[in-house]
Amino acid sequence: MIEYSDARAFVIGAAKALPPESVSLAQALGRTLARDIRAREDIPPFTKSTMDGYAVRAEDTRPSSRRTPHEVGLEVLEDLPAGRRSRKAVGPGQAVRIMTGAPLPAGADAVVMVEDTESRDRAVRVRREVRPGDNIGLAGEDLKKGEIALERGTLIGPAETAVLAAAGLASVPVTRRPKLAVIATGDEIVEAGDPKRLGQIRNSNGPALTAMAAEAGADARYLGIARDRKASLAAKLARARGADVLVLSGGVSVGDYDLVKDGLEASGVKPVFWQVRIKPGKPVFFGRRGRQLVFGLPGNPTSSLVTFLLFVRPALDRMLGRAMTGPPSATAVLDEPVALKSGRTQFLRGRFVGRGPVLKVAPYEDQRSGVLRSMVRGRVLIVVPADATRLEAGREVEILLMDGS
Ligand code: AMP
Ligand code: MG
Repeated sequence: MIEYSDARAFVIGAAKALPPESVSLAQALGRTLARDIRAREDIPPFTKSTMDGYAVRAEDTRPSSRRTPHEVGLEVLEDLPAGRRSRKAVGPGQAVRIMTGAPLPAGADAVVMVEDTESRDRAVRVRREVRPGDNIGLAGEDLKKGEIALERGTLIGPAETAVLAAAGLASVPVTRRPKLAVIATGDEIVEAGDPKRLGQIRNSNGPALTAMAAEAGADARYLGIARDRKASLAAKLARARGADVLVLSGGVSVGDYDLVKDGLEASGVKPVFWQVRIKPGKPVFFGRRGRQLVFGLPGNPTSSLVTFLLFVRPALDRMLGRAMTGPPSATAVLDEPVALKSGRTQFLRGRFVGRGPVLKVAPYEDQRSGVLRSMVRGRVLIVVPADATRLEAGREVEILLMDGS
C-alpha cells in the first residue's frame, strides 16, 4: 500500500505528452493547444473608431469662448463606413463622418459620438469636447504583432476560439486526443435497457467513466462488461490493445471473484502499484502494458468516479500537455466540524454552502461509497490529510473541483 502523493507521482511520471495534430478552427473546441500561438499582426490591425460619430482633431472641439451651450462647427469631408479606408486627412476645422469599426482617418485623433452632434448638410455642430484618444481603439491594443496570444497547454473554449479566429488561424495545432477504453466488470451488473433479475444492479460505472473520460478530452470508447471469468476478461482486454489508456471498474479488490489484477498481469500488464492509502478508493490498481496506461478502479460507484478524478484525469491532462494537471484545487473553509478515523487521505464529497467572499464547504451527510447522490449534489472533494481525526468548523481545507476544467 502506498501514499496518495506517491501514487499520483507514479501516474504523472508515466504519462507522456501525445504528438500534435492539426484541426480546423470549427473543431478546436475542447482540444488543447500543442504550441504557443503568436499574433501574426497587430490585433486590431488598425486604429479604428469604437463609436458612430465624427472623426476629429480633439483640439478643434474645445469651445472657443465661454458661450453656453458649448457648440463648435466643423466641415464634413466624407462618410466613412466600416471596411473602407479614407484617402483624406482631417485638417483644422474638419471632420469625417465615421462608423464603428472604420479606420481612423489621418489627422484625426478622436471621435465625437453622433449623440453629441447635429448634422447640417456638409457640416456638423459638435456639442461636447473630446480628448485625444476618446472613442477610438488603437492598433494592437489587444495583441501586438509577435506577442503570445495563447500558450501551449491551453484548453480551447469559446473565448480562446475568438482569439484564434482574430489571429487568423483556420487550422489549429492541438495535441492528439488520448484513446481511452473503458471496461466494466462484474457478474451482477446489467446495462440500462436490458432485463434485470433479483440480485443484479445497473451498470453505472461504464457510462460514467466513459463520460468522465470524454469530458476530460479523451477519445473514449466503452467496451462493455467483462464477466467475472478469466476468459471473459481476457477477451475484453484483447480488444483494448490499441488504446493509450485502459480503465476498468470493479474486480480489483481481494474478493474471490476479483480477477482484474491477475487478469491484467496475465495479459502482459506490469503492475506499478496496487492499493493506495486513500478513502474512498483504496484498492485502485495502476500498471503499464507497453505504452498503455492501465487503471483498475474499484467497483463502488463513488470510489470509481473519485479515483478516476484522482489518477486517470491527471494522466490524461499530461498526455494532452495541459498546463494544469488534475482537477483544479482551491482553499475553502469548513462550515461544520468533521470527525474521522485517521490513517488514510480522505476525499469527502462536499458542496459549497452560503455566499460571500470566503468559499465555504460542507461534506455531504452520507459518505458511503455506494451513494451516488453525493456526487450529483456534491461538486467538490474535500481533502482531509491522513493524520487528521477532527477538523473544526472554520478550518481551512484543500478542495478539488469536480466540475469544469
Ligand atoms: P467490486 O469492486 O467488483 O467488488 O464491486 C464493488 C461494488 O460495486 C459492488 O457492490 C458492485 O456490485 C458494485 N459495482 C461494480 N461494478 C459496478 C458498475 N459498473 N456499476 C455499478 N456498480 C458496480
Ligand atoms: Mg465485482
